[in-house]
Amino acid sequence: MKETLIAVGVLLAWSLSYVLSCWVRPFRDCWVCDGKAHHRSATNRKLSRPCRWCNATGKRLRIGRRVWNRFARVRSAAM
Ligand SMILES: [Zn+2]
Repeated sequence: MKETLIAVGVLLAWSLSYVLSCWVRPFRDCWVCDGKAHHRSATNRKLSRPCRWCNATGKRLRIGRRVWNRFARVRSAAM
């Protein structure tokens, strides 16, 4: 019983900290181009192309923030 309470507490603390971090920093560096907005071709290292995954911004919206935005959009559409 005590272990269950500890596990629930840890899970709650982790999810709360994730929600807070998504609120404070909604964007993270793109994992494809490492935030550089361009990446080099795998075959020709001199070729540099704009990153398709982040639309050449170097930043991507975090998953938690994406879920929150979807939720907010559905909620505003329902009102
Ligand atoms: Zn990128």
